[in-house]
Amino acid sequence: MGLNTTQLKTKADLKGDHYLINGAKVWISSAQVAEKMLILARTTPLEEVKSPKHGLSLFYTTLDRKHIEVREIEKMGRKAVDSNQFFIDNLRVPIEDRIGEEGKGFEYILDGMNPERILVAAEAIGLGRIALKKATAYAKERIVFNRVIGKNQGIQHPLAKNWIELEAAHLLMMSAAWQYDNNMNCGASANAAKYLAAEAGFHACEQAIMTHGGFGYAKEYHVERYLREVLIPRIAPVSPQLVLSYVAERVLGLPKSY
Ligand SMILES: Cc1cc2nc3c(=O)[nH]c(=O)nc-3n(C[C@H](O)[C@H](O)[C@H](O)COP(=O)(O)OP(=O)(O)OC[C@H]3O[C@@H](n4cnc5c(N)ncnc54)[C@H](O)[C@@H]3O)c2cc1C
Repeated sequence: MGLNTTQLKTKADLKGDHYLINGAKVWISSAQVAEKMLILARTTPLEEVKSPKHGLSLFYTTLDRKHIEVREIEKMGRKAVDSNQFFIDNLRVPIEDRIGEEGKGFEYILDGMNPERILVAAEAIGLGRIALKKATAYAKERIVFNRVIGKNQGIQHPLAKNWIELEAAHLLMMSAAWQYDNNMNCGASANAAKYLAAEAGFHACEQAIMTHGGFGYAKEYHVERYLREVLIPRIAPVSPQLVLSYVAERVLGLPKSY
């Protein structure tokens, strides 16, 4: 969906008892195997709405490959989940496949964004923790200069820092989850948890490679794969830059910067 969601170009034109959807999407996960899809499309042109957040509608409908060309994107990690480009040509969608009211789709999808950020935070923390576990085990067994490398502060301090960062991220993630479960506005905590967890996870994965030395670059030790995987929670579903802009505006009250 990208970052500038309200400017999406995919449109759904109402034709009596159905919509016709046309457009293109990128980075669509699991489209090689999915039979159904959740899709956000513009139903009222931008120039006819007061706010760009209006005039977008959400549909849950069949992924009809007669009208949708799905092209897989080759990528550096997450081979278990396919990512795709999507080209939609006159896809007929029955009116009953629209979720809720026409034009309120952005509002509905926003409700799903905070739990997604919290889930992605948990994913990044999990990746960071397994990387830290592997690095610590290696640091306890690898002997260089007649002592285990983990005896060196240059090895143990960064790992200790990784543990502290991951613990802090976990607490923020759990706080955001608790706020969501208690119907509180958790936007700031969910975004902050995603940011902190993804950065902490990335630092731990990077440090795990460095702790392994040359073997950090070997597939056999898996830590290189964790680094490739943890870049996804850093980039998606919202980038670190946009999280910082959100916190600056919504928490600190600074002017909107994008
Ligand atoms: C593996 C993978 C799976 C994905 N799966 C899905 C999916 O299933 N469904 C889906 O809808 N999306 C999916 N995405 C898309 C993902 O949500 C977007 O990649 C992410 O939101 C970033 O948007 P973008 O790639 O369009 O970056 P862009 O908007 O092109 O931004 C590029 C860079 O510019 C920076 N930038 C842009 N504007 C500003 C600004 N004003 N200030 C500072 N920096 C700025 C961004 O932070 C980013 O670093 C997936 C992405 C990946 C990598």
